[in-house]
Amino acid sequence: MAGRHIAVIGAGIAGASVARALLQHGHTVTVIDSAAVSASGASGNLAGVFRPLPSLGDSRLSRLLRAGFLLGRQQFAALPEARCGWTGVLHIARDAKHEATQRRIVTEQDLPADFCRFVERDEASGLAGWPVEQGGWWFARGGWINPPSLCRALLSGIDCHYHFKVARQERSGSGWRVVGDRETLGADAVVLANGIGAAALAPDLKLPIRAGRGLVSHLPEAATPAFNIVATRLGYVTPAIDGLRCAGATMAADDLDPAPRFADHIENLQRLDMALPGFGSGLDPAQLDGRVSFRPMSPDRLPMVGPLSANEDLWIIDGFGARGLVFAAICAELLACQISGVPLPLESDLVAALSPGRFVKQSAYGRT
Ligand SMILES: Cc1cc2nc3c(=O)[nH]c(=O)nc-3n(C[C@H](O)[C@H](O)[C@H](O)COP(=O)(O)OP(=O)(O)OC[C@H]3O[C@@H](n4cnc5c(N)ncnc54)[C@H](O)[C@@H]3O)c2cc1C
Repeated sequence: MAGRHIAVIGAGIAGASVARALLQHGHTVTVIDSAAVSASGASGNLAGVFRPLPSLGDSRLSRLLRAGFLLGRQQFAALPEARCGWTGVLHIARDAKHEATQRRIVTEQDLPADFCRFVERDEASGLAGWPVEQGGWWFARGGWINPPSLCRALLSGIDCHYHFKVARQERSGSGWRVVGDRETLGADAVVLANGIGAAALAPDLKLPIRAGRGLVSHLPEAATPAFNIVATRLGYVTPAIDGLRCAGATMAADDLDPAPRFADHIENLQRLDMALPGFGSGLDPAQLDGRVSFRPMSPDRLPMVGPLSANEDLWIIDGFGARGLVFAAICAELLACQISGVPLPLESDLVAALSPGRFVKQSAYGRT
């Protein structure tokens, strides 16, 4: 059913993506965020990596990431205001055994070369323009994305209310009242897309969303050799954006310290050295800047997308963890289809795997 007024709480990549999808499905959308601008939380990094992750047996995570990669790639490339670099992503194998697994996956699944192909070490080094220790997967259509510009592009033309910290949402007639410290807003339906803040807005449901603290180190382009693709191997490094490369990222669950630490930069430089040996030798970790933010993590590393109440039009899109850029487009389209009551864009086993009901007691969930 189109034509309803939907309040989306959160203006990160989850909220911006679902707002855009809902608009395209014919709804009126209001986005609410406590910050002064969009992409102020986990979605505020200078750059993130955009690539899928194939696996033996084609796991549910791999299938979802493939769908998100293909849909997102098409959607984001059509948004001129979104800053993206489709440079290709080289996923360097950890060791010879991992190389063999990567090779086998490409062969067994007959992956199209423009999606993913295995490249031997010499070709991998040539693609990187830097000697690497193993071969790896080459995702020719992958690259980096600047999430703040993507969020701005997705939210273009959408009614956004900033400096609006939602304290709770409550039923009002057949709809909802979204209550903030200074404002109240009515809507027919509410979507929680507020990352690590979602559990606080549904306290009875005890949503198991944890914060995964991460720091991305900013490497001055002038202090590093030329390098123009994205390389990953436990960590990642990107081409320079506005004179800075991103190298990341640390990960610590339930650590809410927002201040960058020297030890974080050391860890990121160690990861960089694993991917591109010697590449960071001109860098002094004590001189590096970086950005800390908090991944909204779900226990099984799959997002939560779907209804939070059986009949009351309260929905969630969250738990994007470390792969929010790749999950965003397909999860947003899924939720917009669910809210609109139209056919879903994913197979039913994936829809079930993403259902928030997998974590929520059926009694609390309102089902009989
Ligand atoms: C260090 C690091 C590196 C990463 N690298 C990558 C990468 O390379 N590739 C990739 O795909 N993903 C990456 N990710 C993951 C990705 O950034 C996240 O999955 C994604 O940004 C989560 O988006 P979100 O919209 O769910 O949350 P957020 O971006 O955190 O947005 C939530 C929003 O909700 C608002 N909010 C919260 N509570 C309230 C409230 N009560 N009222 C109003 N507003 C509220 C916040 O202000 C915030 O703007 C990385 C994450 C981190 C931390």
